Amino acid sequence: MDRTFNPVFAELPETVFERMSRLARERGAINLGQGFPDGQGPDDVRAAAARALENVSNQYPPMMGLASLRAAISAHYRHHQGLELDPTSEVMVTSGATEALAGALMALLRPGDEVVLFEPMYDAYLPLVRRAGGVPRFVTLKPPHFRLDDAALAAAFSERTRVVVLNDPLNPSATVLPQEDLARLAAYCCRFDAIALCDEVWEHVVFDGHRHRPLMALPGMRERTVKIGSAGKIFSLTGWKVGFVMACEPLMRVLSRAHQFLTFTTPPNLQEAVAYGLAKDDAYFTAMRAGLARSRDRLAAGLAGLGFTVLPSAGTYFLSIDIAAWGEDDETVCLRMVREHGVAAIPISAFYQEGAVRSLVRLCFAKTDATLDAALERLARMRPA
Ligand code: PMP
Ligand code: GLN
Repeated sequence: MDRTFNPVFAELPETVFERMSRLARERGAINLGQGFPDGQGPDDVRAAAARALENVSNQYPPMMGLASLRAAISAHYRHHQGLELDPTSEVMVTSGATEALAGALMALLRPGDEVVLFEPMYDAYLPLVRRAGGVPRFVTLKPPHFRLDDAALAAAFSERTRVVVLNDPLNPSATVLPQEDLARLAAYCCRFDAIALCDEVWEHVVFDGHRHRPLMALPGMRERTVKIGSAGKIFSLTGWKVGFVMACEPLMRVLSRAHQFLTFTTPPNLQEAVAYGLAKDDAYFTAMRAGLARSRDRLAAGLAGLGFTVLPSAGTYFLSIDIAAWGEDDETVCLRMVREHGVAAIPISAFYQEGAVRSLVRLCFAKTDATLDAALERLARMRPA
């Protein structure tokens, strides 16, 4: 048999998250690499899923998602972000944000269309853009602020730009874009008639009084934005893979055509439970953020006490340590950390294609105090090589 396959996937390494989680399993390490919480998520949301598994149909739900979930999504975003979304024509349920991203790129891109990507970027974006026939144009965001500057946007956008992929809050930098940068990006999208594909899976996970602002709400963006969310992050249930897509009707029409041949539907009991969860009162969201902020502070203070240089984290499950002074790159430090000290982390260079930053290591703080303290105890012995 001919063993050449599509080069986009054939030449890809295994994702850094799987690689580091496997190393963690093999070494019995504490896994602060891949972003998933220690806990089980809210009991009532899991109970709603269990009840629905017993009592609700387990056959194919409607292709666009259960009506109850689409109504809940629309009500949720009206309440939390002031968006008006028609639940029947502007909301679709997907199997995780990843499916939403893949489907949107397949549906929106014509071969040769340019796609503006901000790096550091989530590792799924580039292969999906390439496989969809898009031509990437990178904008490298620099630590510690990871801001969008006008000169870089001017260099990346052109008449050939079809899509710009924005992740805000940004994984892995744990930064939230200021309104000024969103307005700058919106102006470029409007000027070049580009579609913004907004990966906002971390929208609820913001700290210290930061508020997430959807790009879709900016002037001129309503008809050119595809907004993506994920129940995995909202409810600390990353294995559920229930995502949602919001867009105006003409865009949604084509997005749904891709979705119908990717997954078509998503398990109905999980959809019911997410509909229940999205209607939870503000206290749930406030407590979720406060709990994560406490964990962030515990890990940050512990690391700082051990002499690590810790970058601020305004959102997501992550913070980074700066190892520029160590004389080693991030990959080397992560391998030493997991092999010699029993703590797995993620090298941030994995999120760069062009202007690689090799001096930052990402750690997940969405863990119990006991897990964080055990990791700190192990890291107390870690020194530059
Ligand atoms: N985008 C970003 C920026 C993420 O961090 C993640 C997962 N952590 C995803 C997409 C994937 O979300 P899902 O698990 O819902 O597919
Ligand atoms: N988004 C998660 C992270 O950043 C990982 C998801 C995955 O493993 N694909 O850690």
